[in-house]
Amino acid sequence: MAAPSVLPFDDRDGTIWFDGSFVPWREAKTHVLTHGLHYASCVFEGQRVYNGRVYHLEDHTARLFNSARIMGMKITFTEDEINNACKELIKIQGITEGYMRPVAYRGSEMMAVSAQQTKIHVAIALWQWPSYFDPKEKLKGIRLDIADWRRPAPDTAPSHAKAAGLYMICTMSKHAAEAKGYADAMMLDYRGLVAEATGANMFFVKDGKLHTPTPDCFLNGITRQSVIALARARQIPVVERHIEPGELSGFTECFITGSAAEVTPVSEIGPYRFTPGTITETLMNDYSDDTRKEVSAVKLGG
Ligand code: PMP
Repeated sequence: MAAPSVLPFDDRDGTIWFDGSFVPWREAKTHVLTHGLHYASCVFEGQRVYNGRVYHLEDHTARLFNSARIMGMKITFTEDEINNACKELIKIQGITEGYMRPVAYRGSEMMAVSAQQTKIHVAIALWQWPSYFDPKEKLKGIRLDIADWRRPAPDTAPSHAKAAGLYMICTMSKHAAEAKGYADAMMLDYRGLVAEATGANMFFVKDGKLHTPTPDCFLNGITRQSVIALARARQIPVVERHIEPGELSGFTECFITGSAAEVTPVSEIGPYRFTPGTITETLMNDYSDDTRKEVSAVKLGG
């Protein structure tokens, strides 16, 4: 095993917000007998800090609470308290460009499938993560494999929660893709339709129009919603629909979107080839500009 190239995440300097207090980074610990670890009773967010502000903070916090609600977990803080903790943490950590990870999980009071009396813990960590923006380099595009694992049906798993358990097949798919030299993998859904990448949504271009899978069994990402709004503001038509994998041969451009991925062009998916072009580049730039505005030009439906 190669040594990790970054500092381990449990051994860093700094401060983490944990159950209502700011604690030294290395002291934000949980016991090995934690329900969230054994039974995946855990939901989380991934949000970027640009210019000292979380992009669409309120939308991310609302999704965290919705994910917890879907999982039957009652967070004892208010959304405002979590938003304020995020803002305070940015000041305390002194980070202007970073990645923030709020997480809520069941504690150690019960260790069985039934866990009604467990405390719901909430933590927020923030680390430095500059968004390197070299459009020329980025426009080469990344290569995706096609995953063996499929996104589960909404009556098989809580598809609309950003829940830890749903990432089991994402890590397995990403590892399998990496082992073959790919950057990531595209996942089909339980019906065999195009779904998403392992941590990002997907868009395709054909005849000047954007096509993106209907998010009926995976996250309707905040970046996805922003990019749709930015495209419409440019009069680029957006078609949300079911997409068959065989249709990939008819698309000219492809990109993925996510808080971490931002807008990342794709050059290959298995046997299919794409050439990142004007629409991808325009939306990459529009998204980058929007993340750096004092107030995003995009209002998400809510
Ligand atoms: N799908 C999955 C599985 C993800 O993990 C993410 C990242 N949160 C997304 C889509 C994109 O969501 P967002 O744009 O809100 O980050």
